[in-house]
Amino acid sequence: MPDIELRNIRKEYDEGKVIALNDIDLKINDGDFAFLLGPSGCGKTTMLRTISGLIQPTKGNVYIDGIDVTEQPPQERGIAFVFQDFNIFPLSVFENATYSLKVQGYTQEYIIQEGERVLEIVGLADRADEIPVGWGNGDLQRLGLARAICSGAKILIMDEPLGSLDPKISAEFRWELRNIIKDQGLTAIQVTHNQEEAMAIGDYIIIMRDGNILQQDTSEVLYRYPKSLFVGNFLGGINILEGYIRKVLKEDYYDVKIRLGGPTLKIHSPNTKFYLDENVIIALRSEDIYLFTLDYDYKNSRADWTGIVLSEALVSEKFLTGKEKRYIVELDNGDTLSVSKPEVFQYEFQIDQDIKIGLFNEDLRLFKYPENLSTEMDLQ
Ligand code: ADP
Ligand code: MG
Repeated sequence: MPDIELRNIRKEYDEGKVIALNDIDLKINDGDFAFLLGPSGCGKTTMLRTISGLIQPTKGNVYIDGIDVTEQPPQERGIAFVFQDFNIFPLSVFENATYSLKVQGYTQEYIIQEGERVLEIVGLADRADEIPVGWGNGDLQRLGLARAICSGAKILIMDEPLGSLDPKISAEFRWELRNIIKDQGLTAIQVTHNQEEAMAIGDYIIIMRDGNILQQDTSEVLYRYPKSLFVGNFLGGINILEGYIRKVLKEDYYDVKIRLGGPTLKIHSPNTKFYLDENVIIALRSEDIYLFTLDYDYKNSRADWTGIVLSEALVSEKFLTGKEKRYIVELDNGDTLSVSKPEVFQYEFQIDQDIKIGLFNEDLRLFKYPENLSTEMDLQ
């Protein structure tokens, strides 16, 4: 069963002026369903086409199942590639799906048996005789999947296959897609712009930027423990505060002060070392910020508050999205934080209301102060 490995893959265009892949190492294990995410132009398509053999790397090697396939043509790699727009022949659904079997010279009996089996799997059994011209994207994706499974490939590569799907169809189809991939024992990589989809059904996510892989982890780890500000911000948005290291403590803990003042924060940073007085960025998720009225009784309220009261703030905007209540609160120095509360949260705050904001040390993440903060927070 196939795993995929890239070692030191580099792809340059225009005589080295464009570095589409910057010496990438990647391992995708057999049976994994991986998602590939990153801003437009970061190298996702180049990476997938390099794996499938449609693009030759400038240097480096591609391994499938431990075998170096860098020099092998695409058709010998056992990979099915589903593009956003793939070719539909003006033939029946059945003939479109089983095309590769016919080309390979299988008997009519085998083709019928296999075609029926695969169309059943993708939910197109009762539409086998239709001509798919004019079909919607959702149905075409099923057909693309049928063709891929029929080809016998054990690796499925999908480059934004649901890119232009209606969100409702996409939400329904995604679980079916995952089940089919797992049932068929395929190793799959999918590029999507839909982070929610990637977080929901992927075994893990690979985040790329400027030809580099920034992080490869499960969605939980990426969301809770991003290794960079960019990853944290890319996946679901993040609030940032500027601060400095006040004290280096034992066991990777740091006393951190926010520039605008307030209490000392004690933050754990097992992966990155900081030094005394170093400028840092403190990051926290919008759901990890707590809001209180000015007269809130922290000690004697029903749920004793054990967190840190950071500072006073002003509610400057408020949105109700149906799933959540979102507030924009403004700190004394003009910085704003985005705060989200579940729709069922019982307290309501009003625009222009003075409030206090609270947090827990364990929800805070520390990052090196970047050379250029706005570039680092720019998702493009
Ligand atoms: P993504 O799929 O993440 O949007 P691509 O892999 O398509 O990104 O492109 C990565 C980079 O390589 C981009 O800067 C793109 O302009 C460049 N690029 C891709 N294909 C070519 C090509 N055939 N010639 C020159 N530059 C290319
Ligand atoms: Mg692309």
